[in-house]
Amino acid sequence: MSTIVKNGRWIMTCFIVLWGGMPLLGGNSPERPRLVVGIVIDQMRWDYLYRYQDRYTKTGFNRMLREGFSCENTMVNYIPTYTAIGHSSIYTGSVPSIHGIAGNNFIVQATGKSLYCTEDDEVRSIGTPRDDAAVGKMSPRNLKASTITDELELATNFRAKVIGVSLKDRGSILPAGHAADAAYWFDGKSGNWITSSWYRESLPGWLEGYNQTRPAERYLSEDWNTLYPIETYVQSTPDDNVYEEPYEGDKHPAFPIKTSELVKSQGLDLIRSTPCGMTMTFDVARLAIENERLGGGEVTDFLAVSLSSPDYVGHQFGANSVKVEDTYLRLDKELGDFLAYLDKQVGKGNYLVFLTADHAGAHNGQFLLDHKIPAGNWKEGEIRTALNKHLQERFGKEKLVSSLSNYQVHFNYKQVDETVDMESLRAATIAYLQQVEGVAYAVEMAKAAAAPVPAIIRERIVNGYNHALSGEIQVILKPAWYSDRNLQGATHGTWNPYDSHIPLLWMGWKIPRGQSNEEVYMTDIAPTLAALLRVQMPNGCVGKPITDMLKNVKREGKK
Ligand SMILES: [Zn+2]
Repeated sequence: MSTIVKNGRWIMTCFIVLWGGMPLLGGNSPERPRLVVGIVIDQMRWDYLYRYQDRYTKTGFNRMLREGFSCENTMVNYIPTYTAIGHSSIYTGSVPSIHGIAGNNFIVQATGKSLYCTEDDEVRSIGTPRDDAAVGKMSPRNLKASTITDELELATNFRAKVIGVSLKDRGSILPAGHAADAAYWFDGKSGNWITSSWYRESLPGWLEGYNQTRPAERYLSEDWNTLYPIETYVQSTPDDNVYEEPYEGDKHPAFPIKTSELVKSQGLDLIRSTPCGMTMTFDVARLAIENERLGGGEVTDFLAVSLSSPDYVGHQFGANSVKVEDTYLRLDKELGDFLAYLDKQVGKGNYLVFLTADHAGAHNGQFLLDHKIPAGNWKEGEIRTALNKHLQERFGKEKLVSSLSNYQVHFNYKQVDETVDMESLRAATIAYLQQVEGVAYAVEMAKAAAAPVPAIIRERIVNGYNHALSGEIQVILKPAWYSDRNLQGATHGTWNPYDSHIPLLWMGWKIPRGQSNEEVYMTDIAPTLAALLRVQMPNGCVGKPITDMLKNVKREGKK
């Protein structure tokens, strides 16, 4: 069958060459890039493009800004702003309400059980010593909308090769989509890059070979020191300060970070929170391109890369740390090398690359307070206990609230019987939360569209609300208030600009030079890719193509 098709195709190509005088580019019709590379940088704030710009090379971020198109006001348009939702929303053009990824972990309201975004009991782990290892029992099954990568597969009758690569399972699986050839992620216990039986029955030889070189051990054997003399890191709080969280087993969070020592107690997962985690991810990306011949076939291929280490470093040290600054200076160099590699391997102009983030991230709260900027620490555990006590006095039942995770109130329905009126329970919970310090609003999800809160927040609540998987009440904290992470390090998850303003850069195939300050959304990325590739937009897409850029895309007008 495939021979006939291929022969038919060959005859057709010859006919067109003779008739039209212009050969089709490797049969690649309609006009499309050979390879799309999506790069998601976990926790990258938009302002990092400029915060460290004077020390970025010409070949990394600055090349993308110079040669490509920057959407300077790209916002995440739902809450909560977490990794799994970010990756899902970038690639589906959709929101939790529709695509069903309501957090990294979320609570299935009907059962009260917590579900991890990509967990899947029906698949086996591939590449770990045991195939029942939880780390590999992962798939995109819980993602209920198609991705742009799925749509590329559908548009090419599954001839496109689609591969996801990330240290985090969710950073690899959710972008690669349901119909991917493979998604690979890192298992710190075995030190291997692995996959699951959703995709394949064994690891490809090239990845087994890479695993055998023990990459995490190799990289961690070299300690982490700053790229430049430490006194030149003028954009950050001097190293070894109270706002940062030391590595486990280390007293001071200070350079040099002796990874060669720390690995002995922490294991290979330590690589996640060092810049080497990015190096290793780019290694696997390059190996995938070469060995799977991505960009070398008749149809467009897609490589979805997500760099997780900036998120781990950001959480541990916060946005004003030398560690974050050094991580971005190193990332910039690695990005430059990777783009140069794509020029060589796939050819300048033959690939399309976009770079964005799954969410951004906050400053450390205490650091802000020490600089007289308002901030605060939302003590989730204590507040839940006090709330439950209050509700017990009122309704005579203990533990009516099971969790405040994702800044949502999850009720414990097992405790709710005919003596508890849900309407009164919700009203009492809202009234209580609204007088808790740090709370700006407590909003009943199902009535959020009519809630007296600013429209921008209302829309993000509604977009993030999945009635089967979200709590019933959304808590909106005051700016720079956070759940439990404000003492050391930092976090993300809210609607505020520091969490929701992300970079979005496009470069390569047909992409015009320029930038726009029009507000666009994370959910506009997939439909813009769909327009560029001329494939159908994903099936839950709520975003719009970014016309500011697309209007300047010059096609050759080939029919
Ligand atoms: Zn994070």
